[in-house]
Amino acid sequence: AAEEGFDLEDVEGALEAAGHGPLPVLAVVGRPNVGKSTLVNRIIGRREAVVEDKPGVTRDRVTYEAEWAGRRFKVVDTGGWEQDVLGIDASVAAQAEYAIEAADAVVFVVDAKVGATDTDEAVVRLLRKAGKPVVLCANKVDGPSGEADAAYLWSLGLGEPYPVSALHGRGTGDMLDQVLEVLPEAPAQTFGTAVGGPRRIALIGRPNVGKSSLLNKVAGEERVVVNELAGTTRDPVDEMIELGGKTWKFVDTAGIRKRVHLQQGADYYASLRTAAAVEKAEVAVVLIDAAESISVQDQRIVTMAVEAGRALVLAYNKWDTLDEERRYYLEREIETELGQVAWAPRVNVSARTGRHMEKLVPAIETALEGWETRVPTGRLNAFLGELVAAHPHPVRGGKQPRILFGTQAGTKPPRFVLFASGFIEAGYRRFIERRLREEFGFEGTPIHISVRVRE
Ligand code: GDP
Ligand code: GDP
Repeated sequence: AAEEGFDLEDVEGALEAAGHGPLPVLAVVGRPNVGKSTLVNRIIGRREAVVEDKPGVTRDRVTYEAEWAGRRFKVVDTGGWEQDVLGIDASVAAQAEYAIEAADAVVFVVDAKVGATDTDEAVVRLLRKAGKPVVLCANKVDGPSGEADAAYLWSLGLGEPYPVSALHGRGTGDMLDQVLEVLPEAPAQTFGTAVGGPRRIALIGRPNVGKSSLLNKVAGEERVVVNELAGTTRDPVDEMIELGGKTWKFVDTAGIRKRVHLQQGADYYASLRTAAAVEKAEVAVVLIDAAESISVQDQRIVTMAVEAGRALVLAYNKWDTLDEERRYYLEREIETELGQVAWAPRVNVSARTGRHMEKLVPAIETALEGWETRVPTGRLNAFLGELVAAHPHPVRGGKQPRILFGTQAGTKPPRFVLFASGFIEAGYRRFIERRLREEFGFEGTPIHISVRVRE
């Protein structure tokens, strides 16, 4: 690589600094209609998506990537769903609670024109309890005359209110500067405390696939008493379970236990819960009801885990109910509907009978191993050199783009940066990904490949 004029260590350092590591999470919370979705659109630099949502239409996507002043982070949007059967206070509180759990910092949006309401005060109490950094956004300050309204919000006791017009963009820059002040560089709850602690598993899947049954089955008598584990802090919604001789942390099990029974808005809560659990976990075990057709919802949950960059295991549950015909169709469905995650280890289980429960831990360990794999730069380039020689990129416009060299910029999940002499087509990138997997394993992990063209 030296003859290509790159100093690899510099490149790797620069890539880490440019945010190729895991991203911290910012949650935007507040009452309905204060302008959360408008603000999120402003932050992620997009104007359509969120606000256009029709009432009652389920939005599955709640996490977006954003960048401000050269730093990347994730934004969890809690806007855009209807007040539900819980009543306004409880629903805002539940929403805020879920989002805050998953976040490293919070933007609390208040409508400055309305002022602080009792509901706002209730959210403030939640924020205090959670102890996460908060930036107070006094929204709908469309002009200088509104700034006095914003100043009233000092009374909430959350520090300086930032006067903002999410609609017109006024003041959002100053507010985001403050967000970057308080937002940690890396997601603390996901990675900061990870060293040596129990591995974190998110058991996810659509309602009724058998999540709570599975949790009960694997936990059995093995639920670990908190005090036995010296030095482990435990979130009340997490569950320590001993499996295969090791302690594992199943995150966000309160959602699994159905603490909140909802009708309207239930899907939205479920998505938010899933997103929160995935953010907190290292590995996602997606449970799928093998007795039923694989649905769009199953695919979305898998996609959530993949996009979040978590290790992935697919568990097909209710295997005890399958007849031969269903088994035949299931295999076809898996090929067509979940072919893009064929790299994920698979287990066929029954939470009812206990079938193949012992295969769960090895599958999880395999996925985590793939997720943490690091390919030494020398080996990677030997492999790329042979690959490119044997299968060159197609010639385009009389030129042949060439991969010059590559480096693994990070793990959890593995991220590769390839340096090329010209534009590398998507098909060729997929080919490289496929060959990387064949060569180095990466079972159970998404891998990211980005290409930099060297001018
Ligand atoms: P959410 O329910 O908190 O997500 O609120 P929305 O983002 O859907 O906004 C609710 C309404 O307030 C919409 O009609 C927005 O256009 C409006 N709105 C949002 N931000 C501002 C703002 O800064 N100024 C004004 N005047 N209206 C705003
Ligand atoms: P959750 O909503 O994903 O937590 O699903 P539950 O654990 O509440 O299970 C939903 C229903 O599926 C319950 O009636 C369970 O008894 C049933 N169930 C769960 N796992 C199995 C299984 O492996 N086999 C069969 N036959 N039924 C199951």
